[in-house]
Amino acid sequence: MTEHTSRVDVGIVGGGPAGLMTALLLKRRGISAAVVERRSQETIRATQRAGILEAPTVDMLVDAEIGSRVLTEGHEHEGTVLSFDGVQHRIDFQALVGRSVWLYPQNEVFHDLATAWQAEGGEIHWEVDGVAVEGLEGDTPAITFADAAGEPRRIEAELIVGADGSRSMSRKLIPDDVRTDYFTSYPFAWFGILCEAPPTAPELIYANSEVGFALISQRNEDITRMYFQCDPDTDPEDWSDDAIFEHIQQVLGGEDVVALKRGRIIDKTVLPFRSYVCDPLTYGRLVLAGDAGHTVPPTGAKGLNLAFSDVRALVPRIEEFLTGLRSGPARGDGSAGGGPADLTAPLRRYSATALDRVWKAQNFSWWATNLLHRRPGEDAFAHQRRRGEFQAITGSVHGQSYFADSYTGWAEV
Ligand SMILES: Cc1cc2nc3c(=O)[nH]c(=O)nc-3n(C[C@H](O)[C@H](O)[C@H](O)COP(=O)(O)OP(=O)(O)OC[C@H]3O[C@@H](n4cnc5c(N)ncnc54)[C@H](O)[C@@H]3O)c2cc1C
Repeated sequence: MTEHTSRVDVGIVGGGPAGLMTALLLKRRGISAAVVERRSQETIRATQRAGILEAPTVDMLVDAEIGSRVLTEGHEHEGTVLSFDGVQHRIDFQALVGRSVWLYPQNEVFHDLATAWQAEGGEIHWEVDGVAVEGLEGDTPAITFADAAGEPRRIEAELIVGADGSRSMSRKLIPDDVRTDYFTSYPFAWFGILCEAPPTAPELIYANSEVGFALISQRNEDITRMYFQCDPDTDPEDWSDDAIFEHIQQVLGGEDVVALKRGRIIDKTVLPFRSYVCDPLTYGRLVLAGDAGHTVPPTGAKGLNLAFSDVRALVPRIEEFLTGLRSGPARGDGSAGGGPADLTAPLRRYSATALDRVWKAQNFSWWATNLLHRRPGEDAFAHQRRRGEFQAITGSVHGQSYFADSYTGWAEV
């Protein structure tokens, strides 16, 4: 079969939030992009993932004029509730740091981005197979793949963005002697459910007790999202609906504290926890964005927001890179550093800027995870120590402000 070849400025592997937002913002700057995505649009739209958007993420959706419904169909949350052994404390984001978060599910974010990209005539190939990236150390990197009809295709570009999620094949293209992988795991996971019930409370409740962690989140007026801490090897089918609700109610401190709204459970999943950072986020003509470069445990609601902050930092640096390429001496200098012809310097600056924020988010996600979860086999001392930490946060405006500032998203990139 003849390979069909096309050419754009930037080729993007992965049509999740990071890939699509990059494509759209590049187009706003007159930079052409093409996206290849392994899954179908319908499958991604139906996948339940993040739900909390930081203020800077919402600003990006609004400012990029992609027709996002975040402000009309999302829900602004001006605070959240932390609960320890049934004692609740509200963290008032607006009063503390003057920012809110928005409840707007990731699958709706994806839908808005995919709809905008396609409405603007953006090139995207869904359900591709056998994706490979080549030529990162030369002048013409390329993505090769078989399209949904099985036809071989090749997209040539000046730069490749690896936005292919936590199991990224792109990041493995950064040689082992260039890449440092920072990784830690946790001895627990989240058991997530979707159930046909209205919201239990107006804001999210993050709860810890002697039987572990639970999060009462939301989706809409009819569907509620909840999580509780479980062993990573848990089989969701081992838990009946009644047992799930009884357990979550216990973490909340009983019905007298807050009466859980219950309903038919329509989805059960176990979500393992890991923290990972790839450093650097660039090599030659490749840059990584979103989960491809880093993953966080979901406790701090940072994953999707980090994908957006990467894009915010990346797009101006791509423009700078392309401008340098077109105005400077032709040279396929790969990852070579230093010198006037060092065209990839803007990409390395992106990596350094993005990683600063990534590590802040890693810290907050790790800290919030340890504050709110019970370690297997921990003793009574550990629980009482955690009570002290909890009170240090909720009992002081400084502690509350730290939580509010981190949770709603630091103002700078
Ligand atoms: C259950 C759950 C709950 C979460 N809750 C939150 C939360 O509350 N708040 C928050 O901020 N984050 C949360 N996250 C994290 C958040 O979903 C991710 O951080 C976010 O999806 C990252 O976006 P991304 O575009 O980088 O990656 P992804 O959304 O994973 O997109 C990557 C895309 O690349 C595609 N792909 C992969 N390999 C290839 C390939 N070889 N070729 C072509 N395409 C490929 C994938 O199919 C995928 O569509 C949660 C995650 C999970 C799983």
